[in-house]
Amino acid sequence: MEQVSLDYQKDPRKGGVLESASKRVRMIFSVMASPNRIDILRILNTKGPLTYSELKALAGFKSKKESGKFAYHLRKLLRQLLVALNKAERRYTITNLGKLVLSLARQIEERSIIESGKMYVRTSRHTIEEFNSHKIIQSLVREANLPLEQATKITEEVENKIYKFQTSYLTSSLIRETVNSVLIEHGHEEYRNKLARLGLPSSDIVELLSSEEAMRNGIEGVMSRTAGSVFSEYLVFNTMPKDIADMHLAGEINIVSTPVWGLVPDTVFFDLAELEQGLDLRGQFLNVARLPAIKTVDDATSALPLIISLLSREASSEIVLEGIIPALLKNAKDPEELASRFARALVASSAAPSFTLELPAATIAVATDGIDSKYLNALLDGYRKYVDATPVPRIGLALTNSGKSAIRESLDHVAAAVRGGGMISINNGQLRANNGIRKSESAGKGSATATVALHALSINLPRLAYESNKDETYFRAKLALMIKPSLAAMSMRKKTIIDNIKRGLTPAITSGSQSMQRGGSNIVINLIGTKESVYNILGHEGPSGAEIMQKVLKTSADVVAMQGRQLGEDSSAGISMIADGSGLRFASLDSEKYGKVSLLQTQNTTSYTQGMTLNGKTILSDGTAVQECISIDKLVNGGLATSVDITDLAQSEVIRALEAATELPFFRPRIALGICTTCGHKSKAISERCEACKSPHKLQVYS
Ligand SMILES: [Zn+2]
Repeated sequence: MEQVSLDYQKDPRKGGVLESASKRVRMIFSVMASPNRIDILRILNTKGPLTYSELKALAGFKSKKESGKFAYHLRKLLRQLLVALNKAERRYTITNLGKLVLSLARQIEERSIIESGKMYVRTSRHTIEEFNSHKIIQSLVREANLPLEQATKITEEVENKIYKFQTSYLTSSLIRETVNSVLIEHGHEEYRNKLARLGLPSSDIVELLSSEEAMRNGIEGVMSRTAGSVFSEYLVFNTMPKDIADMHLAGEINIVSTPVWGLVPDTVFFDLAELEQGLDLRGQFLNVARLPAIKTVDDATSALPLIISLLSREASSEIVLEGIIPALLKNAKDPEELASRFARALVASSAAPSFTLELPAATIAVATDGIDSKYLNALLDGYRKYVDATPVPRIGLALTNSGKSAIRESLDHVAAAVRGGGMISINNGQLRANNGIRKSESAGKGSATATVALHALSINLPRLAYESNKDETYFRAKLALMIKPSLAAMSMRKKTIIDNIKRGLTPAITSGSQSMQRGGSNIVINLIGTKESVYNILGHEGPSGAEIMQKVLKTSADVVAMQGRQLGEDSSAGISMIADGSGLRFASLDSEKYGKVSLLQTQNTTSYTQGMTLNGKTILSDGTAVQECISIDKLVNGGLATSVDITDLAQSEVIRALEAATELPFFRPRIALGICTTCGHKSKAISERCEACKSPHKLQVYS
């Protein structure tokens, strides 16, 4: 192996060769003159220490012929003390002086690019390209619709700023920030909003990754939270009319589930009996098995997990499946076998993956007319098995009937499932989702498989009441003024979502609604805190309160109907009173604004009332409670969610209370439960620690 003579390197001062400082600098600069030598330094800096032959190979001196050249360059580096040889290991390393020279070379290189006007941009498409101001002009014109002349002026200014920054790490996001700040300086706020990049600050991502939620929901939760924040921002600051966005931010209204508000409908009714040809996903989900028409028991059992999984990505609040039970009941003989088959299908459906943050509830509609009560009880028992196996169940049942008789015989089975945390609603007549939203009546005609309802916009009635000086007429006038822009926003949203459905953004709904007509979709404005507004804030008590409440609801429904006609919504616009989480947000914002707010303490929460809650004990002692609820239900044409709270009732009282409640067009028996987030144990008692595992982590759930 060749070796370089190292005499000179041992001690440069030996033999009187004590170079002057300026000569040393000159010598070092001459070393830098060769790109080969800078290369050698760079290699040693990143890969060193290296043997002679390793270094030679890495520096690209491959052939024998080049050996002399390499030796020459290395000798120069050694002589100027930029490289040293560790004799014991026979390896070359870069010295501190060498590192300094290398860094100087890099700085000179970068600065010369800047001075020459050549800058390189790291783009978000993961490329590196020369800075080109024409691209700024282009995106100002194309993305923000800025007139060319103005775009050129703005770009000139941006270019000057960027040169002045003298940054060594220019990214497309930095350029965009600069463009936006120049636009703001010139008062072009609207253009800036169009150009703004949406997303999270990196510190939020760091926080998110170490959050408790990340531990609980895993990587999917992190990804959907990140994506959700982009779409929330896009919705509120880019696409929504400014007046509506401000009403939402101020807490006068609440836009529920902002991440998916502009993308998918809220409640979807999907009738599997109408799927004569099966579900054709039009090549959208190439990796999903084609869903055949549901004819047999096996079809129904295997279709349930698939359809719940598919539809769960296409609604924000709830999916309601009709037509699966008749297939499941076909040729049923042994009730016990039916119960365990149903339980197995539900358990298999419970792990449905989804890209949305909050999975929508899934409800299976059971038309009880004509079902033998032993089979109805078997279905309810199967459902209870699933509920018992699931800490917080997501799948519920909606029992519909036209008579009541069949359901009356099964109320004890209903109560047992609810006590375990099950979600069961009892519908008298027209079907509603478990959240209380009615299925569009016009949609029942024809053979549409999928019908949708949009209802994720709620109005804060207590806020209006606080601002109305106890004047009920003024209050209703204010409410009418609030409804108009809200309905207009919902009508706009409906157009977007129907367009999304037509374009196939929601493959399951798309294939289930090939002939979706106008009547196939409802828009509904939700009212929150109606009771507090009328009774507590406006101060109407007893019968006069009930009268005012009806008046308020009548006004709301009339305004919605009138405004709906003007928007071309005809009969598909309505009002609702359902629980959507807005009550909590409104109560917390209002308590900041007004100090303490009055809440009806029926549910032991810090939320305004959402929907109607009837106490089980009240129903048993006072028949008028149910009657009052029935008359309110008539006015709330988009859907009233009535809950019957059976938490405080003894077992024998529960059945009597439910029997009395079957007069209602719709109700859900509910119970307060404590669920241990460590082991999943459920308990009725409100204790500090879990009885099963003694963990302090408990979740309060109102089933
Ligand atoms: Zn526990």
